[in-house]
Amino acid sequence: MARDGLRPLVAGNWKMNGLKSSVSVLDEILSGYSDDLASAVELLVCPPVTLLHAFSGRAGSAIAVGGQDAHQSVSGAYTGSVSAEMLSDLGATYVILGHSERRAHHRESDDEICAKAEAARHAGLTAIVCVGETREEREAGRALEIVASQVDGSVPDGATAHDTVVAYEPVWAIGTGLTPDAADVAEVHALIRHRLTDRFDEAGTGIRILYGGSVKPQNARELMGVADVNGALVGGASLVAADFLGIARAYLP
Ligand code: PEP
Repeated sequence: MARDGLRPLVAGNWKMNGLKSSVSVLDEILSGYSDDLASAVELLVCPPVTLLHAFSGRAGSAIAVGGQDAHQSVSGAYTGSVSAEMLSDLGATYVILGHSERRAHHRESDDEICAKAEAARHAGLTAIVCVGETREEREAGRALEIVASQVDGSVPDGATAHDTVVAYEPVWAIGTGLTPDAADVAEVHALIRHRLTDRFDEAGTGIRILYGGSVKPQNARELMGVADVNGALVGGASLVAADFLGIARAYLP
């Protein structure tokens, strides 16, 4: 348990990586998830939807499994899309929403992400709502303004610790090896906490806020030690069991 009393969450976003054989990586993660680690940190793996069923069956209740996106409707004529209910049916308990790659490549708006988060809640999933500024926005001194408006617009009314996690992922830090310094992470996480408590009162104090963007075993302890950082959303390093577990071990004494 972290100093703020929230159980940390280390979540792996596999993006569009992994085939049936990748179940061996999950097996490695499961076998390295020792009792001391499990008592310190919750683990979540979000593979491509094609692997969800196999992963949830394998992971059982030890490690949570989640989707990387969900449509805002329950069903209908939306070729190629997957609903939150379908993810839940495959054993998912979480879903990543509004990742910067979806905001950029699929032009997802805050309103759309908010609708998806509401759909996720109705399906019984916890939504990991992603926010974060681009390099240009940071350089223009607009990082706090951008993150605040994304949090306000993407997190639905009535959010609670049970159905919502927020992930701060500066776009310029994703997959680049660059990370903000601890003071910048602290500033943005404090802002997000403020927005959540202003809007949701007591419930806002329990919503976990993850940091994401080039988290590695080497920098995890420093990043996870920042105030109001309640875990990590990990891309590249989550594809390698030893690295993913190495990040989670930042939570061991
Ligand atoms: C991500 O895409 O959510 C992410 C944090 O990627 P990476 O860890 O590779 O920077």
